[in-house]
This record gives sequence, C-alpha cells and structure tokens, in this order.
Amino acid sequence: MMRTLLLAAARSGRTRRVVERLRPTRAMVNRFVPGSATTDALAVTGELIRSGRAVTLDYLGEDTLDRSQADATVEAYLALLGGLSYGTSAEVSVKLSAVGQALPGDGEEIALANARRICTAAADVGTTVTLDMESHTTTDSTLRILHKLRTEFPWVGAVVQAALHRTEADCRELAAAGSRVRLCKGAYKEPETVAYQKKAEIDAAYLRCLDILMAGPGYPMVASHDPAIISSAQRMAAQYGRSADSWEHQMLYGIRVPEQERLAAAGYTMRVYVPYGGEYYGYFMRRLAERPANLTFFLRALVSR
Ligand code: FAD
Repeated sequence: MMRTLLLAAARSGRTRRVVERLRPTRAMVNRFVPGSATTDALAVTGELIRSGRAVTLDYLGEDTLDRSQADATVEAYLALLGGLSYGTSAEVSVKLSAVGQALPGDGEEIALANARRICTAAADVGTTVTLDMESHTTTDSTLRILHKLRTEFPWVGAVVQAALHRTEADCRELAAAGSRVRLCKGAYKEPETVAYQKKAEIDAAYLRCLDILMAGPGYPMVASHDPAIISSAQRMAAQYGRSADSWEHQMLYGIRVPEQERLAAAGYTMRVYVPYGGEYYGYFMRRLAERPANLTFFLRALVSR
C-alpha cells in the first residue's frame, strides 16, 4: 500500500511541490544522490574506482516535456564524459525520457539523436552507455532506440525489468553475443495486465530471466541488492562456466555499501549506479518506496531538524 502511494507520488507534480516545500536537506538526499554538480559526480567516481568498484553515472531528470531541458541534459552528459578517464570502469546510464522521448510528435527521433550524441562522446573516451528502462509504456520505444544505436555502437547496454510479463521473451532476444543486459526487478508501479504484483512472483521471474541471460553468450549485469538473487547469480555463473569478467553485479549508490565492498574484494565486478544532479525527486521517491525504513529515516530527519 505504502509502496503504491509513494510510487504514485513519484510521478505527481502536486506531491513534488509539497515535498520540495518541506525542503529535504542535502544530507537527506545525499544518502542516495551524492551531489548536483559534474565535479561532485567525478569526485565520487574517483573514490569508488579507488575502492575497487566500477561505476555507472546517471544525470538525474526524467519525463522531460521541454526541448531545451532535453538539450541541457545532453550537454551535462557531454561535460561529464569529457571528465571521465577510467575506460569502461566508469560508464553512463541514460533515461531516454530525459533526452526527449516523452516530447509530443517526434520524441522518439529526438531521443535517438540525443542518445547518439552521448554514445559518440562515450566512444571518444573509451567507455559505454546503458539505456535505463522506465515505465512499461516506453519499453517498445526504448528497445527500438536500443537496436538502432547498437548498429553503430554495439556496446550500448539494455535494461529489462523482471516484473513485466514480457521480460522473459525480451531476455531471449537480447541474450546474444556482445549484448550487455542489466536485469532489475523494476522500480515503477505497473498494472497487473502487464506486470507481476507480488514480490515472490517478481523474484521467481527474476531468476528465470537471469538463467536465460547467464546461459547465453551476452554480458549479464545483475542489478539487485537482494541476498538471494546475489547468491543465485554467483551459483548460475559457476554452473555456466562464466569467467569473472563475463558478467557483473550492480547496486545503487548508498545501498548495502558493506556488501558492495565485500563483493569487490572477493573478485567480482561490482558496479555502483551513481545518480547526480538537481532533479532528484522521482529517483528519491522510488528509493523511499522500496524500503519502509527509508521513509521512516526521511520523516525522522525532517522532524528532528
Ligand atoms: P528488493 O527485494 O527490493 O530488496 C532486497 C534488499 O535490498 C532489501 O531487503 C534491502 O536490504 C535492500 N534494498 C533494496 N532497495 C533498497 C533501498 N531503496 N534502500 C535500502 N535498502 C534497499 N529499475 C528500473 O525500473 N529501471 C532501471 O533502469 C533500473 N536500473 C537500476 C540499476 C541498478 C544498478 C540497480 C541496483 C537497480 C536499478 N533499478 C532500476 C531499480 C530496481 O528495479 C529495484 O527497484 C531496486 O533495485 C530494488 O530491488 P532489489 O533487487 O534490490 O530487491
């Protein structure tokens, strides 16, 4: 119930204005979003790389209905990429709705052109790009853009959400040689016509999808903090004879940090998703929705200041 409310709030302009009026302090937001400037993102990236972890950076923003904001997001990515020098150890994640996909009319074409500019800049510094997956209403469009980008940049990563009924079929299609695929549970509130609703069903679907990706010749990116998923991924990788550099674990910045450090020290590739920028609202609300304890932490911090 609480999760449903928070996920609805994550997309509501009215709730956004209320939350912003509460003015969550930088310290509250910093738990999940380490800063707003490119320099903050680069500083955190350096620290994570030195600790043995890899990074994927996301310039925050989504559902943009303003062409100039989409262009500004592209410029932010270009500035960021210009400062990266860690090869594929530090790549970027892009939400297509932040670079024009949601614009009326030719939004998909605009997003493709903008994503192409980001991919070109990534190629120039020897790194990669992964396209985040958003609401199920955008899945087909995002996969169309992915396939077009991959004709020029075969290393562009896809994301699939285990919660969606369609995802096992998508995994079969995406589990091809050279294909980088991030598997996550799914952070959006989706209707039962297209998505599993119960945690047990989503977890079981995740394992079926993971088995398809691990068995195939692609590069699975296991995005989960769930201990049962993490150990299943390691067992499947061993079962399919995968080397340590043929798949990776991924977690979000600020979540299960000791486990991130433990996995990196044990020789697994451990990539941390680092969001940065001023448009933290949607991302922040989805993190609150995932764990009641996060909401309690947020409310306590608000009343105690
Ligand atoms: P859960 O069953 O939700 O959590 C398992 C355990 O992890 C919890 O018991 C808790 O200990 C810990 N945990 C999980 N979430 C939190 C939290 N917010 N705060 C504190 N502890 C927590 N979703 C998309 O829809 N599209 C994307 O493109 C996308 N990209 C992602 C990229 C990465 C690298 C990661 C890690 C997640 C991404 N997600 C994305 C979010 C994902 O879909 C889930 O919503 C999120 O990861 C929680 O699921 P879980 O697998 O960690 O398992």
